Amino acid sequence: MARITMKFGGTSVGSTDALQRATEIVRQHVLDGHQIAVVTSAMGGVTNLLIEGAQTASSGDGERYKVITDHLREKHQQAADSLLHDPDARAAVSENVHRLLDQYEAFCAGMYVLREASDKAIAAVSSLGERICAPLLAALLQQSGVASQAIDACTLIVTDEEYLNAGVSWAESEAKARHDLLPLIESRVVPVITGFIGSTRQGVVTTLGRSGSDYTATLIGAFLECDEVWIWTDVDGVMTADPRMVPDARVIPVISYAEVGEMAYYGAKVLHAKTVQPLVERNIPLRVKNSFNPSHPGTLITNEASTTPGTVKAVTAIRDVSLITVAGRGMIGVPGIAARTFMAVAKQQANVLMITQSSSEQSICFVVPEAKSRAVVAAIQAELAYEFGRQDIDSAWADNDVEIITVVGAGMRRQPGVAARVFGALGEHGVNIIAIAQGTSDYCLSMVVRASDTETAVRQIHKLVVLNGRNQAPQPLDQPDSQPAEEREPTQ
Ligand code: ADP
Ligand code: ASP
Ligand code: MG
Repeated sequence: MARITMKFGGTSVGSTDALQRATEIVRQHVLDGHQIAVVTSAMGGVTNLLIEGAQTASSGDGERYKVITDHLREKHQQAADSLLHDPDARAAVSENVHRLLDQYEAFCAGMYVLREASDKAIAAVSSLGERICAPLLAALLQQSGVASQAIDACTLIVTDEEYLNAGVSWAESEAKARHDLLPLIESRVVPVITGFIGSTRQGVVTTLGRSGSDYTATLIGAFLECDEVWIWTDVDGVMTADPRMVPDARVIPVISYAEVGEMAYYGAKVLHAKTVQPLVERNIPLRVKNSFNPSHPGTLITNEASTTPGTVKAVTAIRDVSLITVAGRGMIGVPGIAARTFMAVAKQQANVLMITQSSSEQSICFVVPEAKSRAVVAAIQAELAYEFGRQDIDSAWADNDVEIITVVGAGMRRQPGVAARVFGALGEHGVNIIAIAQGTSDYCLSMVVRASDTETAVRQIHKLVVLNGRNQAPQPLDQPDSQPAEEREPTQ
């Protein structure tokens, strides 16, 4: 018997077939004697639509959100009608769908009138997809003979007030999660918890950032001291590159928390950047598996870096970033310029993704999300106005036509040959490297390249990816999955 938190992503609950498959996966593991807690995303595409309706309303479109509301009513109602046989269960799920979508319409109407969409309002709106989906999945489990209860994570996950990328208060959330969830799972009731969302101490809804359900799952897994956390998605596991960009990308059978953490941070969409954080200290293994192909062993993520140092394991890319450069001859030997620059950046709440400084100190370069680039440049100009006046600093500018490529693999910093091979491969294909940073960890090497070079760079570096012979296929928990391999459906 093991205790497992299982998270189902948007595509894994995105259609009636997917919902049935998710239900069957949970039912099988309950029948096998495991204690299961479920974390669910919204049905695929729903969060995007909810946000689109709110944003168009706030910019003066009074129709689009109504079309979206109708579509979402129809989508969820159709899933409930075709899947739930018991009229009472169906009525209860329907009531929840329409109550929450009524709220959605009212929120959007308000945003339309005010021409305003605050972070607080967007968080409230984007939380609705998970809050609609969890009771539906719980009802399906109940119907399949598995005792189940939907739980709104707003009652469990306590966060700060950064509404769209909230920080979680671990101690408070852990106490609530253990208090509310342990009695359920110990009595074999499967809680179906909304991923992605939480609330402030005042009870205002927050979100953990896009793709945040992964993070909810690992938080719950850590709080409940689970034996494992499983992320069910629409690919066979964590892959050596984004399969949409590199068609011959392969599944990585085993990878360490640190390596996968770097991959997620540097753009691998398969996991939210904070996913592994809750698991590292408690050493809880994480598996990434395909709900459309459940017999595939997937990727096992643990503390062990099971590779030879210096092995290039994966390559990722981050789009929508901006390279900021602060340059001037008068910066030489003047202490404090870097500190003041980064203070100014921090005040804009911009996350600095990488930093490089040339040894002659004539410039500092760093990368921030493109959405913050204007504000960051303005803040630096204001902070260093005196130095600009004296012409110690000539300019501060943003270059938005760049992307970050990151090569991930344990022990890379100690293996100079890796960097040489990477740079060589890019040079041969005419990719110019604009900036390099390797100091961030022992696990990755990041480069800034022109956006138009990204695909070539990723594909060329991917050719260097060598899966090490000692990479073991992950062992199943205690027996192979009892699910038959199923045809993978096209994702939405
Ligand atoms: P979910 O809805 O299950 O959370 P996501 O769409 O967030 O799924 O993440 C899975 C997708 O991430 C895959 O379909 C794949 O296209 C993309 N992806 C990008 N990089 C990688 C990678 N290195 N390994 C696996 N998948 C990746
Ligand atoms: N539904 C949310 C999103 O689309 C969270 C998630 O799927 O993890 O970002
Ligand atoms: Mg995701």
